Amino acid sequence: MSDQSYLQWPFLEPRHRELALALDAWASEHIAQAHEPDVDAACRHLVAQLGRAGWLKHAIGGAQYGAASDVIDTRALCLIRETLARHNGLADFAFAMQGLGSGAICLFGSEQNKQDYLPRVAAGEAIAAFALSEPDAGSDVAAMQCSAVADGDSYILNGEKTWISNGGIADFYVVFARTGEAPGARGISAFIVDADLPGFEIAERINVIAPHPLARLRFRDCRVPASQRLGVAGGGFKVAMATLDVFRTSVAAAALGFARRALDEALQRAQGRQMFGKTLADFQLTQAKLAQMATGIDAAALLTYRAAWQRDQGQRVTKEAAMAKLTATETAQQVIDAAVQMFGGLGVVSEQPVERLYREIRALRIYEGASEVQQLIIARELLGNLADSSKSSANLNRNE
Ligand SMILES: Cc1cc2nc3c(=O)[nH]c(=O)nc-3n(C[C@H](O)[C@H](O)[C@H](O)COP(=O)(O)OP(=O)(O)OC[C@H]3O[C@@H](n4cnc5c(N)ncnc54)[C@H](O)[C@@H]3O)c2cc1C
Repeated sequence: MSDQSYLQWPFLEPRHRELALALDAWASEHIAQAHEPDVDAACRHLVAQLGRAGWLKHAIGGAQYGAASDVIDTRALCLIRETLARHNGLADFAFAMQGLGSGAICLFGSEQNKQDYLPRVAAGEAIAAFALSEPDAGSDVAAMQCSAVADGDSYILNGEKTWISNGGIADFYVVFARTGEAPGARGISAFIVDADLPGFEIAERINVIAPHPLARLRFRDCRVPASQRLGVAGGGFKVAMATLDVFRTSVAAAALGFARRALDEALQRAQGRQMFGKTLADFQLTQAKLAQMATGIDAAALLTYRAAWQRDQGQRVTKEAAMAKLTATETAQQVIDAAVQMFGGLGVVSEQPVERLYREIRALRIYEGASEVQQLIIARELLGNLADSSKSSANLNRNE
């Protein structure tokens, strides 16, 4: 059992503590640790389970559509991701993607869009995906080439998206495509694309080190009704960035969950492993490692819940969310690596908890803005504060 004293921190309210403890108890009972061989089936099952148990209500905003609150409670989001990640990485993924995949609908959808999708997302009855990246447009989102051409009361989509989580099992995708109102970031729009639309196909399934559903998508003259466009034509970049802005801090929380689990495993192992007539924990080299792991986790947690709290106060969190994601993901990688080391040979045996964590953590330093991108955001915020504020905010929006 993890040290849960952080639940008493002043960033959190009593309802957050209750939520975290209730989810911890539910997760202990309901979600298995091991990865199932059929990752698609496992993921579908987890979405349905999380929906039935009511946890997905926290992944969306809008009480009339089945959400827990009108505006997403970032601290609840973070506590849920942290807790699920501590128990099972795929459960965290299933929860997070329901939020990321439907976030643009919560923020920019018409009343009809919201009614059509959000209640099913909250109930775990429709699986969501967020399709922004392309083979030649990852960190440089504005370089995207997938196109959407207006044609009567529809748009015709052509092109590809890649690295799309839930690709292959999603019921709908929020897809970003170039509509050409202006060059670069200002000529992109967002659309909801149902998975069964003619002209849409899964071009390739992608296997990654910590298995979860992932795919390259292809659009060939795929006709999407204009009523499925989210926000104004040409406003898609803003839709994407606003959605990512909600969820970036929660990636830090997931990393924290992985790190806490690694520390728990390391503590147990160090106290149980006999060597040289003592336990591994009796050696000061081990104690130094454990101290560093615990201190890194608390530092990352403080940054994470500071950003979440600040967002829940309605404040801008561009710098704080970037600091949280950068620190929590990089720290978690170090903590997990130290745990693997303490396990010796056992640490690299397939499906051992620390071996699984070692694979789970890696992608978090890359997606939703790689660590280098977070560094740039932080630096621009710092430098921008010294410059004329109106000029700096125009520049900074590109990386929010
Ligand atoms: C497991 C996984 C799941 C994903 N899920 C989704 C999803 O659901 N939807 C979606 O749209 N995308 C998704 N992605 C894509 C992800 O967002 C991109 O991989 C990420 O944005 C990086 O883009 P890229 O892979 O093209 O790398 P590149 O853009 O080629 O970047 C490569 C590396 O370059 C470095 N770099 C970037 N910018 C700079 C800079 N300015 N200065 C110095 N170095 C820099 C960074 O280290 C970066 O990691 C997922 C990726 C992974 C791995």
